Amino acid sequence: LRSPSPAPTTVATAAAPLSPHQTTAIDFKDQVVIVTGAGRGLGRLYALEFARRGAAVVVNDLGGSMGGDGADGSVADQVVDEIRRAGGKAVASHDSVATPEGGEAIVRTALEHFGRLDAVISNAGIFGSVDFERLSADAWRRMLNVHLDGSFYLSQPAFRAMKAQGYGRFVFTASSAGMFGQPQEAHYAAAKAGTFGLANVVAIEGEEHGIKANCVLPFGFSRMVTETVGGDEAAAQIPFLQIIDPRLVVPMVVFLASRACALSHHNYSAGAGRYARVFAGLGEGWLAPAGTEPTAEDIAANLAKISGTQPFTVPTSIVDEVMQISARRGLGQDSA
Ligand code: NAD
Repeated sequence: LRSPSPAPTTVATAAAPLSPHQTTAIDFKDQVVIVTGAGRGLGRLYALEFARRGAAVVVNDLGGSMGGDGADGSVADQVVDEIRRAGGKAVASHDSVATPEGGEAIVRTALEHFGRLDAVISNAGIFGSVDFERLSADAWRRMLNVHLDGSFYLSQPAFRAMKAQGYGRFVFTASSAGMFGQPQEAHYAAAKAGTFGLANVVAIEGEEHGIKANCVLPFGFSRMVTETVGGDEAAAQIPFLQIIDPRLVVPMVVFLASRACALSHHNYSAGAGRYARVFAGLGEGWLAPAGTEPTAEDIAANLAKISGTQPFTVPTSIVDEVMQISARRGLGQDSA
């Protein structure tokens, strides 16, 4: 991917209608959903679908540029109009997710207008590409501020409201850039990787309160993608972009935000109609003989085992890994 060009903001989403394969009705009747960054791209599509399925939706969007400059309230307002014209319930929020006050205000909007809060789709985001060597401290901070700080600033007040209700769903937006890496995206990848860490703990602490938290790693043709590759014409030449219709991400997010979702602490990649779990596995590793002091040479000699990915487990928390190590070292559960 090349550096972004400043100009075009139009997004090609006019693909053939999709045929729904819905088998079980998942509705949001009497539920309230916040979608951040809902004025454009993926967020807009999520908001429309939640409303279509009966949710009252808080359509949050600051309405800035892809790089995070400026603000335009009409971006969120237009989506609210679209939802209301279709007979749905929605209210706009123009607050930035990137401040604690903004996060509080978005949650307050949901509670004041609709009286409760069932699901939060943390989706607002900015983007920019720069070689690691040239990445400025300001660009780094701005990226972490919107994606990672923003996810925290919103999810904390939302968590409190959900805990009081004994029910809630979080869908955090991560990225394959954060899990697997992407050139020229050290700041973006770090922010998205941090989101996994936040979501993991929200999931763990939320479990006893009926709160589920999961991440989505989307691929969707949007302004973000178009500007990143250098505009509409350049985007039209890239075959992969033609198959990542953003509407194909929507079902995954809607499911994770719904009453039907009993999963928590999971991550799902969604793009081009391929939906797949993304997970951090822990290899079996090599166990140095008890009582020995392994050397760097021992590491080198046992690297195949240490680096092996089979067999593996997917720990449910650090405690789970501590228990595994303890068991391998012959400690009982009590002493772990
Ligand atoms: P987009 O640029 O079309 O939409 C993002 C929206 O977020 C914009 O309308 C913008 O105004 C809003 N926003 C930005 N900063 C905000 C702030 N501080 N407060 C409130 N709103 C703010 O982008 P998109 O492609 O729809 O991306 C949505 C999310 O998905 C982002 O988090 C992005 O990083 C992530 N993502 C997208 C892709 C993809 O292929 N499109 C891939 C991986 C991850």
